[in-house]
Amino acid sequence: MNTSPPTGTRHGVDTTLVVLGCDGSWVGPHGAGSGYLLRGAHTNLVLDLGPGTAGRLAGLMGGPEARATPTGLLDGVVITHRHADHWSDLHSLATEASLTGRPGPLPVFAPAGVAETTGLSGHRSLSWQVVGSGSLCSLGEFSLRFARTDHGPETLAVRVTGPGGSLGYSADTGPNWAWSTLGEGLDVLLSEASFTVSEEGFPGHLSGRQAGQLAERSNAGTMILTHRWPTVAAADVLVEAGEAFSGTVYQAETGATYVLKDGRVTTDGH
Ligand SMILES: [Zn+2]
Repeated sequence: MNTSPPTGTRHGVDTTLVVLGCDGSWVGPHGAGSGYLLRGAHTNLVLDLGPGTAGRLAGLMGGPEARATPTGLLDGVVITHRHADHWSDLHSLATEASLTGRPGPLPVFAPAGVAETTGLSGHRSLSWQVVGSGSLCSLGEFSLRFARTDHGPETLAVRVTGPGGSLGYSADTGPNWAWSTLGEGLDVLLSEASFTVSEEGFPGHLSGRQAGQLAERSNAGTMILTHRWPTVAAADVLVEAGEAFSGTVYQAETGATYVLKDGRVTTDGH
């Protein structure tokens, strides 16, 4: 790990975000838990690995012949906190890495204690890197910056600055938190929005309205809503957030792809 400052955006080179799963807290029919693949020109990073995400990652990066396995092409993983809906499929990746002979252990960035919670602290195919609020790290083309959120156990939001711009991921958080803790100049916010206003007050999570309010206090132009409880209507959360945030709002869907280029976001039509 080094402490170099985040690198700047490189003109004309993009960062792609693929949603591996976006169900919040538990998994709904045909859904998957939190998981996001970030791809630069030659760096692949995963943010969280909730239930059902490993298979989707294999579909994107592996192949039926299993010569190109997901972990063989992955450069690192961030696990934001110890709740299992954010890391359960790390077990699949660790086993795959050990049985297919990944060259070198897979770096996993996580708060203190997460390795022990997962039961994978001593796994030979993983290289745990303990991070905390304020930590700065580099992984290939990406620079990472972490900030603690408003959530029960130590939970780290992460800023990923890469060739296409800067993305902030809230992980899980309640309303007593600010995007500015990840620094200024975020281009896109991947924000949790677990429910609607009727559930406001439930600790450690946001309604669509609250997510919109937090985003409005940043200078980001785009927000992608995620971590929605499967029983909550996507359209309701989206409307709430859109009323509170003056930028562009998307509701994440499993498999959706967002391209960040020159600090601006385009989608693949999802
Ligand atoms: Zn959580």
